[in-house]
Amino acid sequence: MQDFNNARYLSDQEVYPCPICAVGEISTMPLMEVMACQFCRHIFTADYENQQLQMADRQPPLMWRWNGKSWSERRLKDVEIGWGYTLGAIAFVVLPTTLIGITVYARPPVASSPLSWFPVFWTGLTFVLHLGIIAQLVIEFLDFPLGAYLQQKLQNLLPR
Ligand SMILES: [Zn+2]
Repeated sequence: MQDFNNARYLSDQEVYPCPICAVGEISTMPLMEVMACQFCRHIFTADYENQQLQMADRQPPLMWRWNGKSWSERRLKDVEIGWGYTLGAIAFVVLPTTLIGITVYARPPVASSPLSWFPVFWTGLTFVLHLGIIAQLVIEFLDFPLGAYLQQKLQNLLPR
């Protein structure tokens, strides 16, 4: 069954892509029963029987299932992220922007005034800032090492 279409099983003998940073690789640490990423330094415990991986340094832990080629079914252990959160996040970005946009549309500024650009700018700023807050929450939630990730990407772009 091994090596069927290059699919492989999760085992303590091999190296796998890191499900957190997608830059590093995780492998079993010498003399220990945990796996660690050499790039973002997160630590994982593997359940070889169920082909699952769990973050060991985060509460509640994120979990993944190994499908033979990649990590799938990312979820928080014992926590369901329902549609409510997704809808809430979309509403948080869309509603204020729409409200301001409607106001600007209904009461357009006098075109000759020096600040006539401001309402449109303000609408755009509202959208960008609210989107930024959501992005920040998601990054914090996933514990994504954004700085390290960007640094790595930048280093790969620069000639050595
Ligand atoms: Zn990593």
